[in-house]
Amino acid sequence: MSAQGRARPPVYSPKPAGSEDAVYDACGVCGIYAPGENVARPTYFALYALQHRGQESAGIAVSDGADLRCHKQMGLLSQIFTEQILADLPGYLSVGHTRYSTTGSSVVYNAQPLLAESSLGTFALAHNGNLVNTEALRAFLPGEVAGRAESDSDVMAQLLAGLDHGNMEQRIAEIMQRCIGAFSIVLATERQLFGFRDPWGVRPLCVGRYGEGWMLASESCALNTVGAEFVREVSPGEIIIIDEHGMRSRRIETGRQPAHCIFEYIYFSRPDTVYAGQELYLARYRMGRAIAREQPVEADVVIGVPDSATAAAIGYADESGLPYIEGLMKNRYIGRTFISPDQSLRAQGVKLKFNPLVANLRGKRVVLVDDSIVRGTTTRQLVAMLRKAGAREVHVRLTCPPMRHPCFLGVDTATYEQLIAANFSVPEICKAIDADSLGYLSEEGLVAATGRPRGEFCMGCFTGRYPEGIHEQLAGKVREPQAITS
Ligand code: SF4
Repeated sequence: MSAQGRARPPVYSPKPAGSEDAVYDACGVCGIYAPGENVARPTYFALYALQHRGQESAGIAVSDGADLRCHKQMGLLSQIFTEQILADLPGYLSVGHTRYSTTGSSVVYNAQPLLAESSLGTFALAHNGNLVNTEALRAFLPGEVAGRAESDSDVMAQLLAGLDHGNMEQRIAEIMQRCIGAFSIVLATERQLFGFRDPWGVRPLCVGRYGEGWMLASESCALNTVGAEFVREVSPGEIIIIDEHGMRSRRIETGRQPAHCIFEYIYFSRPDTVYAGQELYLARYRMGRAIAREQPVEADVVIGVPDSATAAAIGYADESGLPYIEGLMKNRYIGRTFISPDQSLRAQGVKLKFNPLVANLRGKRVVLVDDSIVRGTTTRQLVAMLRKAGAREVHVRLTCPPMRHPCFLGVDTATYEQLIAANFSVPEICKAIDADSLGYLSEEGLVAATGRPRGEFCMGCFTGRYPEGIHEQLAGKVREPQAITS
């Protein structure tokens, strides 16, 4: 099947209303191989479990062994798929994608899965991550194709489509050697399902049993949602091949060290997702305990910014002996609208998303636990909201170090100019958000809370040092660490 047309409808706002100052992950991917079953429906529900990873567009491609059909659109899964659309995607082999754009604009042309024609037939590719050598790769494409390929994912798909030797497994191995950056990819041909992960393992990907068949997904929570059983994570530099012969794998040897994104532990992945044998909820709880030890404060209550900081707030409360209470109610549906708020509603800022529980806050000295500060605007509004609700003092505690550098690996963390910690000291940020005190978790405390060794992680947005082999590609983009007083 040929790729969708090139018409470019209006660009969607990538930020859900009330969430303009947040860190956004790039995408979620999944794939199912289950002969004898129709897999469009379980793929849809697996993507639902990954909706937090991307809310701009989504799509599913399904093969019945002969034809690969795809449906993708802008919007949330619930807005894109109907019973009829799923019924029109018959077949036992699928890949699915939810997107938040970090390269390529937010238009349906860039929605995934991307369909491409190769000498081996049609394939559908869904990508989570971001390449850092896209322009160098583009030079290998014929001029007209290079001009059309807008996103890094598209460049990768076109490179793969252009190879004319070897089977798909060998072609994927060749592409993996050439691409530099973050890529966790699921790919379907008419009869095979592949999953492959960059040599650093920046973004997650796991494999599970789906009945007698197999499943791939960004996070284990997607496997659980459709009754699949987690088997293991796909290793950095590994290709998983699933077909009529079962599941097998091969590794690409690049000599790279693993560099998993530590922000998956802090914020991106769902707390019920399991990495390295532990639920992320527990890692976040330990981050809360650690920041309580590192940054204690005299206060009456501990609250968390729901839902992402709830586990850490409970950890802070348990470590400090202060009571944990609910201080903010979240409108869980506001992020699901693509109706842009008008100017007067936009001025409401976080009020669209949060409402304070006045009875719990009045007259209290409050510890507000959150995962991170990007630009500072949301935190400033939250502090003001708590004060207006009667909080006597507001002490902000964050479960990561100051974000002083952008991410180039599939996360929208804003630019140097926009990152408040890239330009101001901690006391200056504290003043800017109007908090009574501000405390960040140390790098050591953060790593210890993950239960994994420091050497396994990318921490580029804190340190300005990106994984070896990637950092070198970022010459001219990375600012040298400045003398900012902590
Ligand atoms: S720079 Fe930060 S957000 Fe990006 S991959 Fe590294 S740790 Fe994750």
